[in-house]
Amino acid sequence: MEVIVSDQQPQTAAAKAFLAAGAKKMLIGGDWSEAESGERLDSRDPANDSVLGSVPRGGAADVDKAVKAARQAFDNGVWRNMTPDDRGRILWKVAELIESNIDELAELETLDQGKPLFVGRWAEIPGAAMQFRYFAGLTSKIQGETITPSINYQPPGKNIFAYTQKEPIGVVGAITPWNSPLVLEAMKIAPCLAAGCSMILKPAEDTSLTAIRLGELILEAGVPEGVFNIVTGLGPEAGQALVEHPDVDKITFTGSTATGRTILETAARSNLKKVALELGGKSPSIVMDDAEMDIAIPGVANAIFFNTGQVCVAGSRLYIHKAVYDKVLAGVADIATNMKLGHGLDPDVQIGPLVNRTQADRVKGYIDGGIAAGAEVVVGGEQCGDTGNFITPTVIANTRQDMSIVQEEIFGPVVVAAPIDSIDDVPAMANASRYGLAASVWTQDISRATRLASAIKAGTVWINCHLMFDASLPIGGYKESGWSRDSGIQAIDHYLETKTVCAVV
Ligand code: ADP
Repeated sequence: MEVIVSDQQPQTAAAKAFLAAGAKKMLIGGDWSEAESGERLDSRDPANDSVLGSVPRGGAADVDKAVKAARQAFDNGVWRNMTPDDRGRILWKVAELIESNIDELAELETLDQGKPLFVGRWAEIPGAAMQFRYFAGLTSKIQGETITPSINYQPPGKNIFAYTQKEPIGVVGAITPWNSPLVLEAMKIAPCLAAGCSMILKPAEDTSLTAIRLGELILEAGVPEGVFNIVTGLGPEAGQALVEHPDVDKITFTGSTATGRTILETAARSNLKKVALELGGKSPSIVMDDAEMDIAIPGVANAIFFNTGQVCVAGSRLYIHKAVYDKVLAGVADIATNMKLGHGLDPDVQIGPLVNRTQADRVKGYIDGGIAAGAEVVVGGEQCGDTGNFITPTVIANTRQDMSIVQEEIFGPVVVAAPIDSIDDVPAMANASRYGLAASVWTQDISRATRLASAIKAGTVWINCHLMFDASLPIGGYKESGWSRDSGIQAIDHYLETKTVCAVV
């Protein structure tokens, strides 16, 4: 397939100015810095491989400087001892600044990541602002408990008084992926700063530009110097140095299960810092025979093709009741066939490039492996564009549960379909995965829906919808999809320690 990637330029003056300003720097202790090594990494537009700019290739020395700055800002209390109300006002201001710069941020995200403009403009960047507003409101709701213990050996005439107090955990390292950069960064920065911690963010090497712009906005909002730092660079260099650093109290990570495992091992070998992991998925979309077809068919197509399939909770396994199998498969294939591929800045484009050639080759490799194992490509399956970074939306049938295309996370616009005979088969099929991130169930029967929602081992189950995100809804996984949850009221607890104070008075 021919993909026309015309020379798309950003429309906003602010995006043009940000790019024209040239080489970007890292944020350490309130200063914009080069890497100690002086080395840089190119930022590329994945639609045409043109160079957008460059970022410093940070390493262990830069991480050490950033950790020292974050530690100093934590210890001097400039942020954690600010009143919760004042901290909340500043985080609220970050949300407002994201919103007032939303067109610029959406264009930069599309240029750097490849995503269709509407994904950033209408879903992810409003979602990032919402994270800051949600956790701004929680700064003033961090509270412990008073407890009445049953200890009976205190001195006569004395009473026991006990309470818990919540304290910020300290210096946090956040390591984030390239698929939805800004919103996934916001899901970590907002609760972390709301709790009173300091942070060093290591954004993904392919998509660091909007993190740098966000850093500017965070400073502009009034977050004190050293509280929020950014070290750009490669995972095995800057990322690993952050995980190894003995003065980092916690790592919060979103990315692949393989890298999550490496991070866990590294953290265990260093200071046993706490680790939160939001990892991969292979989430089933399950369409029953009584589903509302005009909602279910576009719904399950969107579940896999949104953001070009580069979504950890994408509905990448499609299980369809045999009575409606042909209809649903044909409907999803039809949508896939008619989607427009191209540069994400073209407002009509629904499928952009994958983030880089390595990722596109990987996705194509899965498709070819599936064909070799006997699966049938109903539609799509092509790698295209001058750069080879595009994959046509792909629907694959004739699959078996043991195929790697059914078991492994492809992270591209590729869905594998299989029929189901009855509702009784669904839990076993849905749960036959090492992942447990999300699922969706499409049926008008509420008792079927809630029964399946209980039986499916996943952190999120959507009913008659998929990809419904909100700062109030926890997201995270069962099984090898990770530990702990981002978003939701409990997310702030991941950045807090509980101290028990027990007194005889
Ligand atoms: P991918 O392999 O698709 O790039 P990853 O899960 O490896 O996805 O990347 C997510 C984030 O993890 C990125 O910011 C990346 O730089 C970082 N990363 C990769 N390897 C390591 C590592 N060994 N230690 C720490 N961070 C890493």
